[in-house]
Amino acid sequence: RITVLGSINMDLVTTTPRLPAPGETILGHGFSTGPGGKGANQAVAAARAGAEVRFLGAVGDDAFAPELRTALVGAGVDADLLRETEGPSGVAVISVDDSGENSIVVVSGANAAMRAPTAADLGAIAAADLLLSQLELPLASVTAGARHARANGTTVILNPSPAAPLPDELLECVDVLVVNETEAAQLGASTLARVPDVVTTLGARGATLRGPGGVELRSEPPAVEVVDTTGAGDAFAGTLAACWHLGREVALARACAAGALATTRAGAASAPTSAEVDAALGRR
Ligand code: ADP
Repeated sequence: RITVLGSINMDLVTTTPRLPAPGETILGHGFSTGPGGKGANQAVAAARAGAEVRFLGAVGDDAFAPELRTALVGAGVDADLLRETEGPSGVAVISVDDSGENSIVVVSGANAAMRAPTAADLGAIAAADLLLSQLELPLASVTAGARHARANGTTVILNPSPAAPLPDELLECVDVLVVNETEAAQLGASTLARVPDVVTTLGARGATLRGPGGVELRSEPPAVEVVDTTGAGDAFAGTLAACWHLGREVALARACAAGALATTRAGAASAPTSAEVDAALGRR
């Protein structure tokens, strides 16, 4: 059982021939909306990967709120503890160009109101096998969640994205860090060295894991035709969390395949099912 403490946003996505330069206006060729936010994306990815998932987070009191809740529930995620706060839901304004490159502005909205986990949130964290979190909620909330997890024997996987310096009280509660190359560089080797397991995603080159006792693993993704890399990292993290109990090697391989499959679909909530991951791994 996984509890995800994280963000949920409405993604507003434009598709354009190329990304605009500062000050430039260009004509795009498509527009769509869909549920997103690293927390929600990773929760949905973990559910698709076969885990029982509960989501802790907040939406606003706007028109996006019921749609966001329905999206979680529709993906099989328990949203009973999803809070409704005054004001707008979080939004992400995303542009994707024809090569699959993206540029993203996130406005936190209700996510910023998640200043601390409630008693019910803490109960859900203590009851879970694993807590999965990111940095799109206030740091105090993530830290409180991670500390409660550590105190109750719940494994903590943190995807420190968007990258920010990690306070000691948080870092010392993290079992697994999932970072891309940019985040790894921003956190620095000395921070990474303080966490038992560090998984680094390398885009098309796959991912590596550095575990306790000098464990080094590497996994390459299956060959795919990239449509949109948005959500690849979230598919990876959610799948890694869902499969962590299967052992490092299996979890890394399945996460890698899930990340790759996510790039073959448009949108942020693009994680594959476990059956699709099976098929991709069998095909190699
Ligand atoms: P982020 O999107 O967070 O920057 P990455 O770009 O490292 O993270 O991608 C996360 C994972 O998604 C990778 O480890 C890989 O499994 C998969 N992935 C990303 N881009 C590609 C690609 N072009 N081809 C195949 N797999 C990819």
